[in-house]
Amino acid sequence: MENFTDNALRILQERYLWRKGNGEELESPEEMLRRVAKYVAQAELKWSGKAEAEKWESFFFDMMSTLVFLPNSPTLMNAGLPKSQLSACFVLPVKDNLSGIFDTLKLAALVHQKGGGTGFNFSRLRPAGDPLGSQGGHASGPVSFIKLYDFATEQVKQGGKRRGANMGILNVDHPDILEFIRLKVNGKALQNFNLSVGIFDRFMEAVAEGRDWQLIHPNSRKVAQTLPAKEVWEAILEGAWENGNPGMVFLDTIHAANPLSKIGRIWATNPCGEVPMLDYESCNLGSVNLSRFVSNGKVDYQKLKETVRTGIRFLDNVIEVNHYPTIKIEKATLSNRKIGLGVMGWAEMLLRLQIPYDTEEAVHLGDQVMSFICRVSQEASHELALERGCFPNWEVSAFNPQKVMRNATVNSIAPTGTISILADTSSSIEPLFALAFQRKKVLNSGSLTTEVHPLFKKAVEEGGFPVQEILAEVRASGRCGHIADLPYQLRSVFKTALEIQPEWHLKHQLIFQKHTDNAVSKTVNLPETASPKDIGRIYCEAWKNKAKGITVFRNNSGNEQVIYQGIGK
Ligand code: UDP
Repeated sequence: MENFTDNALRILQERYLWRKGNGEELESPEEMLRRVAKYVAQAELKWSGKAEAEKWESFFFDMMSTLVFLPNSPTLMNAGLPKSQLSACFVLPVKDNLSGIFDTLKLAALVHQKGGGTGFNFSRLRPAGDPLGSQGGHASGPVSFIKLYDFATEQVKQGGKRRGANMGILNVDHPDILEFIRLKVNGKALQNFNLSVGIFDRFMEAVAEGRDWQLIHPNSRKVAQTLPAKEVWEAILEGAWENGNPGMVFLDTIHAANPLSKIGRIWATNPCGEVPMLDYESCNLGSVNLSRFVSNGKVDYQKLKETVRTGIRFLDNVIEVNHYPTIKIEKATLSNRKIGLGVMGWAEMLLRLQIPYDTEEAVHLGDQVMSFICRVSQEASHELALERGCFPNWEVSAFNPQKVMRNATVNSIAPTGTISILADTSSSIEPLFALAFQRKKVLNSGSLTTEVHPLFKKAVEEGGFPVQEILAEVRASGRCGHIADLPYQLRSVFKTALEIQPEWHLKHQLIFQKHTDNAVSKTVNLPETASPKDIGRIYCEAWKNKAKGITVFRNNSGNEQVIYQGIGK
């Protein structure tokens, strides 16, 4: 059993550990992991005996307690509770009538209460001001209902442990698109929503060719307005420049990759974008901690293979022992059995191999590592299908007849916002945010301080540099790129998110996307001086290179900074 860091322990104590017996004592982190391993291994009993279940329980415990794999937060928090809800990701439909809108709102509240996040596409709603037929009056439109959902989310804390998270999407041809794009421009609005415009290829082509663009009424399909495509495009870029919203989801790219396109078209993703899903689907995630797979200066592919295989089995088991807020969600989830195994600690893996993030060598390694994970994940799901049967919609899926599969999707790169802190590594495929930093708002009990990165400290000590001075400087600024005493190679390897050109952020996103059947959640960090045009270039590149979505964040934009470089001398 690895020791958790102080930061991890604070998070565990505040949010994850259960109260025991009389309610005064908390379970230990080890007891938490044993609870999760035991609960998830129970799924084995459906196909085999107690000895087999115990064997897997011990494998699951081992990979979590050595911090090489962790499941998404709801699995850690809820496994073993009555009606345990273990998934982080849901997509719910929003229909164009009042009872549909409120039914979905209620369902979203139930999902949030148990720690899940929800994504919606609001494009079926008629535009604001549309006459309401027999009752008279006028429709409020998607934007006002997004505000309603946001307000409701604010009131329902996720299991009392975190605020709900939502993705709100409006298609680029909806008559209210400009209002939607400007929703977050005025500061504090919509704290609980990420916004993305649902983009079609023909819109990107219209922008490139300087053509007009038609906004279409979602019910009558009549043209509501014609305007230059560039006008919509520039509004999107201004919003993204000002506060990171809206991002884009590329609906045609998602559609082309959807193995279940015969069942339906995908219109939305979960809150951070890593799982495009059909209405009512849910998905549970888990992430392999790549920083633990370097030995003797090389990637340990054998250990990675074993962990990925066990991880896929773990996530498939979760579907079996999971409880769902309604029958519709249960049915959709069990029909396709989507899971999302991803990674964290990518930047730390590169650090350990001494490969700077902003090099072709790093991107090439990303290609190798993720294609390996993808191949092993699919083999593992294939073998589970032979053992346990295919997902029920397999016959109408793109896998038929070439390959039997247990799961319609197997990989997703999640942000790993909390579990990477628990595993004491860099999040997802992001570069290090800083070499020392402070996070606000993660905990009720104050901010989290992350001391100077131990690998940096070690490099400075071993290199015979003036340790005290350099560490003081890095504690203050969070970076080392400007310290002339340090050699170029060391400064390159320890570059942080804002010292890395946006193009390299995107290259990493794209190379991981290439081998990820779901999607990649990534923020392309931009310097404060970046212009809307720079953002336009990134969005275009992302689309051309088959990203499923794209999000940027310009330094010091937006009104709610939660992470700060440096911790003071
Ligand atoms: N999520 C959520 N609320 C949060 C953070 C995350 O609902 O405050 C959901 C959301 O669907 C997100 C997914 O969990 O896309 C994965 O997020 P992350 O990897 O950061 O979660 P972790 O498992 O680290 O808590």
